Order: sequence, then structure tokens, then C-alpha cells
Amino acid sequence: MAKVQFRCAACRRLHRRRVAGQRYCGASACQRERRNAWRRERYATDDAYRLTARESTRAWLEAQGGASRYYRAYRAYREKRSQRQRDEADAAEKQERVIAQEETVGSRANSDANGAEVLETTRRYLVVTARRAKSDAIIVQLRAITDDSPDLQRTTEFSEPCGDVTLGP
Ligand SMILES: [Zn+2]
Repeated sequence: MAKVQFRCAACRRLHRRRVAGQRYCGASACQRERRNAWRRERYATDDAYRLTARESTRAWLEAQGGASRYYRAYRAYREKRSQRQRDEADAAEKQERVIAQEETVGSRANSDANGAEVLETTRRYLVVTARRAKSDAIIVQLRAITDDSPDLQRTTEFSEPCGDVTLGP
């Protein structure tokens, strides 16, 4: 009797065998790997398959306006995309520097008001800007304000005050 379990050739994990001679599990990444391996094998050993595959690629490039035109457009697209990523990274870094300056101003004002080196970190802040930095993070620019700030009077006219923000020690 065949063994009940087998080790997937792609992810190397043990799985319950569902088909005789099964070498790959059902995970989509492992199934993609199984199809790629099948194509590589056929391309290397089957002359008719290789000819058909090459002709198919050639016809597809022809439909895109020719190989040189297609690859030129592809390189331009890649260059434009990486330039945009560099610009976004630069803008995010610049925004972070602005926030760092605001924090310095806030703690100095705090120190002046108390007339001593008292570290009071619970204060009221106005969110000046908020923008997405990455898929899991946003950058906000905060400005320290007092309870009688005209900024606070204006914002409470159309929204709930967002409460006090406590920064770390
Ligand atoms: Zn797998």
C-alpha cells in the first residue's frame, strides 16, 4: 500500500496524498511551480513544443508592434515606475523631517512654559496633514496647540475633538 503522506516538491512540507504519484501539494504557489517545471521539461525535451512556444512568443511580440518596440516600451515603463518609487521615498523622508522639527519646537515651548526641565508629554495636537507612506503606515504632521487655540475652536465647529495624544516617555 502506498504511503498516505508525501513531501511537496516545491514547499517541502508533508501533505496527505490525494492522487497516485502526487509530487506537489494544492497550494497555488506550488501548483504554479508544478506547471513551470512541466513547461521547462517540455521545452527542453520536446522539439515540436519548443517550436510552437517560440512561434507563439514571436506572434505575440509582432502583435505588440514588434520585439524592439515592445521591449523599449517595457524598459520605459520600468524606468518610470522606479522613478516614481524614488520620488515617493524622497517625499516621505522630507515629510518625516518636517515632523521632527515640529516635535523639537513643541518640547522647547513646553520647557519654557514650565520654566524648568519638566517632561510633560500629554498635550493637544492638531493634525496638520496626513498621508499614506506605505500600505501599513501613514505619516501625520502634528502641531502642538493649547486649549484656547483658535485652531481648536475652528475644528470643533464641524467635527468632534480627537482628544489628547500621549507621546512616549
Ligand atoms: Zn507545496
